[in-house]
Amino acid sequence: MNAVSDPVTGRVGHVKSEERVDLLVVGAGIVGLAHAHAAQRRGLRVHVIERDDRAVGASSRNFGHICLTAQTGRAHDFGAAGRSTWLELARDAGFRAEEAGTVVVARSDDEFAVLHEFAATRHGDVEILQPGEVEARIPSGGSVVGGAWLPADLRVDPRGAAAAIAAWLERTRRVSFSWNTSLLDVVDGGARTSRGPIEATDVVVCVGHDVDRIFPDVADAAGVERCRLHMLQVENPTGRPVHPAVLSGLSLLRYSGFSSCPSAARVRERVRAERPELLDCAMNLMLTELPDGTLAIGDTHHDARTHLPYADEQYDELLLAEAASLLGTRRLTVRSRWRGVYAAADGEFMIAAPTSTARIVTVTSGIGMTTAFGLAEQVLDDLVS
Ligand SMILES: Cc1cc2nc3c(=O)[nH]c(=O)nc-3n(C[C@H](O)[C@H](O)[C@H](O)COP(=O)(O)OP(=O)(O)OC[C@H]3O[C@@H](n4cnc5c(N)ncnc54)[C@H](O)[C@@H]3O)c2cc1C
Repeated sequence: MNAVSDPVTGRVGHVKSEERVDLLVVGAGIVGLAHAHAAQRRGLRVHVIERDDRAVGASSRNFGHICLTAQTGRAHDFGAAGRSTWLELARDAGFRAEEAGTVVVARSDDEFAVLHEFAATRHGDVEILQPGEVEARIPSGGSVVGGAWLPADLRVDPRGAAAAIAAWLERTRRVSFSWNTSLLDVVDGGARTSRGPIEATDVVVCVGHDVDRIFPDVADAAGVERCRLHMLQVENPTGRPVHPAVLSGLSLLRYSGFSSCPSAARVRERVRAERPELLDCAMNLMLTELPDGTLAIGDTHHDARTHLPYADEQYDELLLAEAASLLGTRRLTVRSRWRGVYAAADGEFMIAAPTSTARIVTVTSGIGMTTAFGLAEQVLDDLVS
């Protein structure tokens, strides 16, 4: 550890980086770790700072669903490019990642029509399932009309992956970390932090939804808000493992690959007429199995710059009822509840260049786990000469 004095405050601080690094990464969520991983693979010396003593942001509060098939455009390309990195890192860093695929359950004809339209655009990537084939893959309620099988999707351990990747990167000795260290400002030749300055050739700021805390004008220009989600961990009541990730008809309104299909409008109209409360909270009913066999269920979506702290119980109750119906059970037993937050804006990605040697990188929709590794490679191609 070396002592360095801050040129602005004169304050002496301590950072673990003992010499100028090639890349300073701010934020040890999945987007920051993906940049650190891509940079160390290019032979660069990397230092990561994280304001908490472990990353507890969006990257440890999600489903762990590497949901690449349902994406379009850049998001699909980033997801496809990063798939093998997830599998390699799981093996090397020692966390669970499974080639589990996704089952999308259709419980009405209009939902099944969307899946047929989607499958027609994705030759070989999507298989249409009849009701019995859905039942064979996952436990589900009786009202299944059909489904789709997306074999390329992965399921990773959402609670363990980021910490395992950080520990593994540190073991490579090309990446060092300063925990409990906050970025204050990006300056020429590096950054000012709460523990003093760090010299770096390039800086990548990956602070997720907190980008407005440091770069309010950049966040304003992109219209970044905080999307708050209700999530629950429940016991699996079915007596059968739920190996694939499970999406529902409401997911057809969420992911661009589905929502761009002509029949998606009919699904939305029907849900608006029959169950407006599901649209009011923008529910994307889905679930994934956690490593201990319990299920992560969610989610609801509310956007605001600043959220009030009071969590409305009605959303948890709605989620529990809908998930129970999807699984064909009457009641679910809750093990834990949490609120997730991610950055939300009109586009899916916000990449800004406050200086020629710095980038601010934020995934501005709920697909950072899917896209981070592909995204990071593209950012570094542009930033690092
Ligand atoms: C409930 C929920 C479910 C989701 N499900 C999925 C899913 O299944 N699949 C998928 O692809 N995506 C999913 N997402 C989205 C995905 O989790 C996010 O897009 C992704 O984790 C964002 O990663 P990040 O690194 O940008 O942000 P974060 O994980 O929030 O990390 C940002 C880090 O920056 C740190 N930081 C902030 N300010 C500073 C500072 N000044 N100095 C130093 N450090 C700072 C924070 O402490 C934090 O650790 C979900 C999100 C939520 C909330």
